[in-house]
Amino acid sequence: MQEQEIFDVIVVGAGNAAFTAALAARAEGAQVLVLEKAPRKLRGGNTRFTGGIFRCTYNSVEDLIPIVRENDNPENVAIVPYTRTDFLKDLERVTGGRADPVLSAILVDRSYETVRWMADLGVVWEFNRAVGAVTVAGMAKVKLPFGGALRAKGEGVVLSSTLFRLAEEADIPILYETQAQRLITASDGGIEGIEVRGPAGTRVLRCRALVLASGGFQANPEMRTAYLGPSWSLVKVRGTRFNTGEMIRAALATGAQSYGEWSGCHATPIDADAPTYGELRLTDKTNRLSYPFSVMVNLDGERFVDEGEDFNLYTYAKMGREILRQRSATVLQIFDRKTLPLLETRYNTATPVVTDTLLELADRLEERYRALSFRKTNFLRTLDAYNAAVQDGVFDPNILDSKRTVGLRPEKTNWATRIDEPPFHAYPTTVGITFTFGGIRINPEAAAVDYLDRPIPGLFATGEMTGGFFYLNYPGGAGLMRGAVFGRIAGANAARFARG
Ligand SMILES: Cc1cc2nc3c(=O)[nH]c(=O)nc-3n(C[C@H](O)[C@H](O)[C@H](O)COP(=O)(O)OP(=O)(O)OC[C@H]3O[C@@H](n4cnc5c(N)ncnc54)[C@H](O)[C@@H]3O)c2cc1C
Repeated sequence: MQEQEIFDVIVVGAGNAAFTAALAARAEGAQVLVLEKAPRKLRGGNTRFTGGIFRCTYNSVEDLIPIVRENDNPENVAIVPYTRTDFLKDLERVTGGRADPVLSAILVDRSYETVRWMADLGVVWEFNRAVGAVTVAGMAKVKLPFGGALRAKGEGVVLSSTLFRLAEEADIPILYETQAQRLITASDGGIEGIEVRGPAGTRVLRCRALVLASGGFQANPEMRTAYLGPSWSLVKVRGTRFNTGEMIRAALATGAQSYGEWSGCHATPIDADAPTYGELRLTDKTNRLSYPFSVMVNLDGERFVDEGEDFNLYTYAKMGREILRQRSATVLQIFDRKTLPLLETRYNTATPVVTDTLLELADRLEERYRALSFRKTNFLRTLDAYNAAVQDGVFDPNILDSKRTVGLRPEKTNWATRIDEPPFHAYPTTVGITFTFGGIRINPEAAAVDYLDRPIPGLFATGEMTGGFFYLNYPGGAGLMRGAVFGRIAGANAARFARG
């Protein structure tokens, strides 16, 4: 790199949002530089940890064939169409009507074409048979989750390595161990460059346009405490340790508008023994998302949520918050013989407590959680009351089956079956934070805007660091899709801006 070289576009970050931007900018002819804070070995952000699920619209399996191509077999999957209306309704429903309607419409309307564009670039796709999909004994086909039918083949690990390869093939240099710190602006408020701290010290890199794609602040305990609340200070982080929010702060300091639910985040049930930060040997395999078929109790032996409120991809992102409210942020997911076959294969990474009677289960849990005063008598009472409250009906994991309890607080409103057939399994579960919801505001062109909604000249943003998309909850697979839709827009617009 020449000293004082001016790049057309600098992209901060090296995840899905960043590379879709970098590749789109390159396709417009821009000279692009990518900055990655992580060392090469740990590169790729949260994207590398993901299950690779992209939520997008499709009307039939035929729509997905040009995307999965010869990489998967459409004959053994069952798909329910997922229309524009469905996706918009999901965003509205799970965010309590708060999701920005303009940004939501762009996310939805450009979801399918963006996945196809990524397939054309070289990302390989397959059907998502793993997360939220249901295989029922005797059924020839796997029913894919509503809206979540596609995932990047090889999940986040391969998605990430593919994006790095595509960037290298497109002659996009990547600077590792280079932390962006401060935006440099001209007297008109436009972007002139960025100050970075790298292996050679601190320096300023100059550019005509800048795309920020450096993730949320979930890995920063100080910001978690300040914005999410003190109880979030010690939670486990599911993904990368490098998303610590400094570029969100830097953009705000430059006049970018803050937006979205700053006290909100995506946080899910994970293995109680999961490491403090995500580890690449485990990626997303610590998730414990089969709880709709369980009874979940806290250390006081009490149920605390409707485990069967909805399919897991519509409740898992808010479930972590509920678990954090429980004593020691520790709960137990209890299954019996009938529901064990429905557990996601990710449960294989756990060590459950397994017994042949509920009494023995209570004893074993009391032993394990003696220091935390597990309330065994309450636990047994809760299971008795639950079993007595389960109503007759047909259990069907494929649909919201309304097989429910009556007379409990809270009720379980779908998939309620008695816990009465050994073996009994208890999976110790805690909360893991995935990403934060508050960030900076972008407009439909993915330009960062100031307090009067005016674009800041030359500043674009995408991915986890943008606010206004998700509040309170999140539909699974919408994170990668949001990053890619707006990454592609940001990259193309940054390149055009740089051209003048
Ligand atoms: C375990 C797990 C599983 C998930 N599974 C899914 C899934 O299947 N589908 C889905 O939609 N979402 C999933 N998510 C959510 C996912 O995090 C986001 O959807 C998406 O990966 C975010 O992409 P991004 O590019 O915005 O951020 P990231 O991929 O996190 O990229 C941020 C990049 O910025 C870099 N960076 C940070 N600060 C700086 C700085 N100051 N200077 C330079 N670089 C910096 C980081 O090192 C990183 O390279 C999952 C998350 C986790 C943790």
